[in-house]
Amino acid sequence: MSIDLDIQYVKGVGPKRAKLFRKLGITTVKDLIFYFPRDYEDRSRILRIEDLEVGEKQTFKAYVAGNAREIRTSRVIITKVPVKDGTGAVELVWYNQPYMKNNFKVGEEYIINGKLQFKYGQLVVENPVLEKSEEDLNLNTGRIVPIYSLTEGLTQNIVRKAVFNVLGEYLDEIEDFFDREFLQAKGLMDLKEALLNIHFPKNEEKLLKAKYRLKYQELFLLQLALFLVKKSVKEKKGIRFRKVDITPFSSNLPFKLTPAQIKVLKEIVIDMASDKVMNRLVQGDVGAGKTVVAAFAMYIAAKNGYQVAMMAPTEILAKQHYKTLEEIFKGTDIRIGLLSGSLSPSLRKEVLEKIKEGEYDVVVGTHALIEEDVTFKKLGLCITDEQHRFGVRQRALLAQKGENPDVLVMTATPIPRTLALILYGDLDISIIDQLPPGRKKVKTYIIPSYMRRKAYEFAMKEVKKGRQVYVVCPLIEESDKIKAVSAEIVYKEIYQDAFREAKVGLLHGKMSDSEKERIMEAFVKGEIDILVSTTVIEVGVNVPNATVMIVENADRFGLAQLHQLRGRVGRSEYQSYCILINYSSSELSKKRLEVLAKTSDGFKIAEKDLEIRGPGEFLGEKQHGLPELKIANLFEDIDILKKVQKDVENLLYEDPKLEKYPKLKQTLVSEFYDRVKDIILN
Ligand code: ADP
Ligand code: MG
Repeated sequence: MSIDLDIQYVKGVGPKRAKLFRKLGITTVKDLIFYFPRDYEDRSRILRIEDLEVGEKQTFKAYVAGNAREIRTSRVIITKVPVKDGTGAVELVWYNQPYMKNNFKVGEEYIINGKLQFKYGQLVVENPVLEKSEEDLNLNTGRIVPIYSLTEGLTQNIVRKAVFNVLGEYLDEIEDFFDREFLQAKGLMDLKEALLNIHFPKNEEKLLKAKYRLKYQELFLLQLALFLVKKSVKEKKGIRFRKVDITPFSSNLPFKLTPAQIKVLKEIVIDMASDKVMNRLVQGDVGAGKTVVAAFAMYIAAKNGYQVAMMAPTEILAKQHYKTLEEIFKGTDIRIGLLSGSLSPSLRKEVLEKIKEGEYDVVVGTHALIEEDVTFKKLGLCITDEQHRFGVRQRALLAQKGENPDVLVMTATPIPRTLALILYGDLDISIIDQLPPGRKKVKTYIIPSYMRRKAYEFAMKEVKKGRQVYVVCPLIEESDKIKAVSAEIVYKEIYQDAFREAKVGLLHGKMSDSEKERIMEAFVKGEIDILVSTTVIEVGVNVPNATVMIVENADRFGLAQLHQLRGRVGRSEYQSYCILINYSSSELSKKRLEVLAKTSDGFKIAEKDLEIRGPGEFLGEKQHGLPELKIANLFEDIDILKKVQKDVENLLYEDPKLEKYPKLKQTLVSEFYDRVKDIILN
């Protein structure tokens, strides 16, 4: 099809420019049609010269009233062209662009855009944007003008012309996959009209409608594909786990499950007992007690003769889970193994052997679990902890180690439902919305950087009471580029000064695993009072005796991340404290951090964070496994998304196989399925 034509054959492009277009991700005519402007400038109001206002950027129509003049000084060449429109006269001015003077013929009419100034005793527009006035053909003036993201070597004019040419020639080949009836029912603009107006809007209203249509369609296809994937996953036959007596395990626990934990556990048990594959996400705020819920599922799987794999994002966390599980499975016959990246080759071999022979019921590990040479004897349940730290692909790779195993993923990042339907489109969601009883709120303070000594003094007091302290810094080493506090500097400073009476440890991501391990272990055992670190301790680490969390440069962290960090303390009966040191003087930064002081509700914090930073940053770039969106924005367009989700649900309810929508189905398969099939589990 010719919309698949290589961009280089488009009028006004050619092989050289095609390379530049390719840099923007545009290789075909179709790519260009779907290369939407990043912004617009309204140059549609064409004024008369007498109505122009000095100091404003405006558009007017005028004819060339005389020959171009050139003024050469030792430093600059000034080119002046007089224009008139019957109501007044303006001088167009260029600097050091002598070739300009050859561009104009007396009498030619132009549409001119620029800032009117009073200079040299006359009205002038310096460096105007102008185009010969030829009604509909004006691309750069006299209309709402599109502004594209460019790359060096391309100008707005080149891109506008190319888009304009392509729309003129190929738009007819683009077929709408929504039929008239659907468009009418949903109040959507027809696709061709939308594409025309997204690039060259006839007016503001049409632009809004075009945007709405294209955002709607993008979210619609994405959501539809995800729902279909989810359905196909749901229909997949999985393991039907038998009911088992859990009292030998539960009677061992030092506490009772909270009602919220019980509710979620029930949902898991129902999934496991069914012959469909389980794909369940357990959301629960930091400290909500997800691990023990997972342990119940492990117990059920193991008692059914299956193995369980539990993957954690860091070595520290994997090891901690291993220890926790050893503790809670004490008195049962569950055999637990640990597979991490730091095992010696001989030990690793031994562990791999035991996994393969089925001598472990539960294997806890890091990414090491998804390496190729890891083979399970009979993997029946996969658990991923802190899911937001993994790509979707990694979750899928783990599941591939078994034969349609049940899948449980856990996250402390609370995501609003609308977004979760996109992010975890293939998962059912359970929420542990309650913390275990007796937890004291972590007292949270925000202090300016000049008061940081006070924070250190306070921490020292806690150390003297026998408690432990975290100090988190955004960077490891000092960097010229980013002005932020580094762990090493703080470590040195603190070590030699404020904390000289304490035992201080340094932990960061550039250390070898064994080094990290050693430091962390020393902290867990209480041999280190104060742990200075980067965010490697962010997820899941559990040291109940730690009661103070100091975050240097808190202004550089996201709110959700700070909430996670705060969750490292407040894990015992002692009152805990979180001190956020704000190095920024901006009012916004202070206000943002104050959200944390005001609430400890992870959901509220996440929502605020989303609002402030948008989903990309909120979830960590590239970690969320989402296809990139061209025009819709998951946060800003949440209202459209909500509507889309309802519409898609209704559509699938009425016509699950999309029999009435052949074109839609085709588009979905040819364009979108590829993009979301990475999200398919197993
Ligand atoms: P998270 O949900 O953040 O992963 P954890 O599973 O690490 O939380 O649990 C946090 C702490 O709460 C652990 O020390 C755990 O033993 C404890 N805990 C979990 N459930 C309960 C409960 N029902 N009652 C009391 N303590 C609990
Ligand atoms: Mg956890």
